[in-house]
Amino acid sequence: METGTRMKAAVVKETSPGERRVALVPDAVAKLAPAGIDVLVESGAGDGAWLSDAAYADAGASIVSAAEIYRTADVILTVTRPQPVAAGELRAGQAVIGMLAPLADPGYAAGLAARGVTVISLDGLPRTLSRAQPMDALTSQSNVAGYKAVLVAASEFGRFFPLLITAAGTARPAKVLVLGTGVAGLQAIGTARRLGAVVSGYDIRPTSKDEVTSLGATFLELTSVGSAAGEGGYARELTAEERQAQQDELTSHIARQDVVITTAQVPGRKPPLLVTEDAIKAMAPGSVIVDMAASALGGNVTGSVPGETTVTGNGVTIVGAENLAATVPTAASNAYSRNISAMLLHLTRDGTLAIDTSDEIQAGVVIAHDGRVVHEGVASLLKPVEGDAGVDGTAD
Ligand code: NAD
Repeated sequence: METGTRMKAAVVKETSPGERRVALVPDAVAKLAPAGIDVLVESGAGDGAWLSDAAYADAGASIVSAAEIYRTADVILTVTRPQPVAAGELRAGQAVIGMLAPLADPGYAAGLAARGVTVISLDGLPRTLSRAQPMDALTSQSNVAGYKAVLVAASEFGRFFPLLITAAGTARPAKVLVLGTGVAGLQAIGTARRLGAVVSGYDIRPTSKDEVTSLGATFLELTSVGSAAGEGGYARELTAEERQAQQDELTSHIARQDVVITTAQVPGRKPPLLVTEDAIKAMAPGSVIVDMAASALGGNVTGSVPGETTVTGNGVTIVGAENLAATVPTAASNAYSRNISAMLLHLTRDGTLAIDTSDEIQAGVVIAHDGRVVHEGVASLLKPVEGDAGVDGTAD
């Protein structure tokens, strides 16, 4: 029922280094208004994605300072986590919605909880629920990243991707192998195919075979390691023996490739090592590897460094890809804006947030509310360090 209450949802300028995405694009403003949501935008928030203050103002948003946002907004919309200074501005009664990685750093959510901030993280979404799909930011951003990984590989590669027959000679198409064919991997396969490469894909989940072949790529079947399908469509971690067998068998396939793009992840675990030092040594000079799993914990490729491009002694370029979605900022922001708008509309009743963790979607995404960490997974990570204080947060 219409009560006349209106919510102020605010878009802040992202503060993580290299982050060019913005949480809402101007198109979203008119879609949120009928639900009682007015949009405030920090001046310059869309600059990195080529979305001007004027475009937001024309769409009906108010352009304001960061100080006004933290003073007056009910809900702060972000892409990634507000950095400590910005997070310190959040106050009791406010909510923050973004991709906040609470499982990777539960203390951050606990700190906000202790200050009475409601924390909602899109990366906790139950992704297999069909009604949750419009809110699936992990998928939308992986799609963008998988596309960009191929462009990065192509630009590092010293030859063509397509077969080219010209008066100056014939260039054979590049051979591209994609390891890990989830959302990012499938998009990488499609993009490499569109550039004319000869593409193969491999995943430890056998169900991905049909998806790979339907994109016109060959599915690589390993004989030494079977299925490792885990829960919810994800992979499980391999045993030490399986891991060794997989690495050994992959080595001979990798040696025949011009380009390898790796995307393999196992939820809550260090990424599996798929491309060993031996495999890299067996590759020809001029080959390129893009490791989309490169992280501080390690990646899929021996020696990959997040955010850096290195060249091995035998002339193989290894790109430690980091936050590729942020490097296609307008497409990534358009998609993310639809995800976060769908989430905000799902959570809003009569112009206020209606937190109800008996709803399956909310149980996944609501991390902290009413001064407590309410998300079971995050709370269980906090228990050993919180002691008798239960799961209530104490500090940043
Ligand atoms: P992810 O980022 O967790 O991992 C990427 C890929 O790496 C996965 O396909 C995984 O199987 C693979 N992998 C892990 N360990 C490996 C190993 N040792 N060797 C080879 N490959 C390995 O996955 P994701 O892209 O987020 O998607 C995972 C699954 O979730 C897929 O089945 C996807 O279709 C499914 N999904 C479903 C929905 C939905 O139902 N709406 C939405 C999103 C994703």
